[in-house]
Amino acid sequence: MLFDPRPKKSREELFDREKEINALVNSKEPLTLLLGLRRVGKSSLLRVALNEVENGIYIDARKMYFDSGGWITVESLKREFEKSLNSLKGPIREHLSRVLKKVKGVSVSGLSFTLENDASLSEVLAGLNEIGAMIGIDEAQYLRFYGARGGREFLALLACAYDNLENIRFVLTGSEVGLLHDFLALENYESPLYGRSYEEVILKPFPRELSIEFLRQGFFEVGMTVSDEIIMRAVDYIDGIPGWLVEFGRSYLRTGDFDKAIENVLKTARGFVRGELGELEKRSPRYPVILKAIAHGFDRWNLIRDYLLSKGTRVPNSRLANLLRNLEKMSWIEKDFSSGEKRYRIVDPVIERVLRD
Ligand code: ADP
Ligand code: MG
Repeated sequence: MLFDPRPKKSREELFDREKEINALVNSKEPLTLLLGLRRVGKSSLLRVALNEVENGIYIDARKMYFDSGGWITVESLKREFEKSLNSLKGPIREHLSRVLKKVKGVSVSGLSFTLENDASLSEVLAGLNEIGAMIGIDEAQYLRFYGARGGREFLALLACAYDNLENIRFVLTGSEVGLLHDFLALENYESPLYGRSYEEVILKPFPRELSIEFLRQGFFEVGMTVSDEIIMRAVDYIDGIPGWLVEFGRSYLRTGDFDKAIENVLKTARGFVRGELGELEKRSPRYPVILKAIAHGFDRWNLIRDYLLSKGTRVPNSRLANLLRNLEKMSWIEKDFSSGEKRYRIVDPVIERVLRD
């Protein structure tokens, strides 16, 4: 069902994205980054691709981070691997059980696997190399909270697998594109991953025609007749991020009322923004103010600075540059030069509307 709010898991459930699925499934690169805004469908695409290859291992970095209260320990990473290994299906599971019997610290009982305290992740990865695993790590930028050194031990593990385990492929997703790049630091001489080549798959919101088709198909599936006028108005309003289209579809299905459905989309977005702004505010109380400035059209450097001043905060230029750069890295904003000068824009139009409230 297209309007199912959970990430999709099989190719049949996924709307469009054939090209991107094939790019992931057929990639020969040891490392692929799957990048895109929140709700654009990264988790869905990752899960579908992992399902297609049958030796796919799914690791949710964001979940580990929140489950253990803002940190990722070796233990939680092991548990996540264990869970994923135990959800493999078919002959590959039997193959894996034969392989893992030889790995120190892994108990195999029938077709179920336990990573004991003395299991080492690099040896588990060596085992996974024998089944040619594709390892998908969702929202991988959270792994900068792995261990005590900004995730360096994880990068070292990744680099070691990259160099020595030629049958393993990694796919890393990230909503906070700049943060993920900063964390992996593939271009930084001091990073364990320095100089490794990788492929990038960038997931974009649907263009207008596909967004319309998405809603049409979604309503068709549930047997609801909805006029093109309503569908087009919805797309005009919320644009092409599938997560918001799903939200609209579900809500319209329930209420049959355009305004209520839009209001529900905004309500969800508001909840999201409230949570995220709270997180941002902990890092700097300027972030929410800057985002509001941009959403209200104070979108150039001087205007943003003046807006901050009008709210009683004077921010030195270098500091403002830094704050804007960070918001860009977190994919909240992007630069826009189409008018001939540098302006900033809130990337997600639904979020922009909510920030204007
Ligand atoms: P992300 O991981 O990028 O935040 P998700 O994969 O969680 O995005 O998708 C957000 C919502 O949109 C989910 O309800 C998901 O089912 C839906 N969705 C995303 N892409 C598609 C797609 N191509 N086809 C159908 N539903 C999709
Ligand atoms: Mg996701």
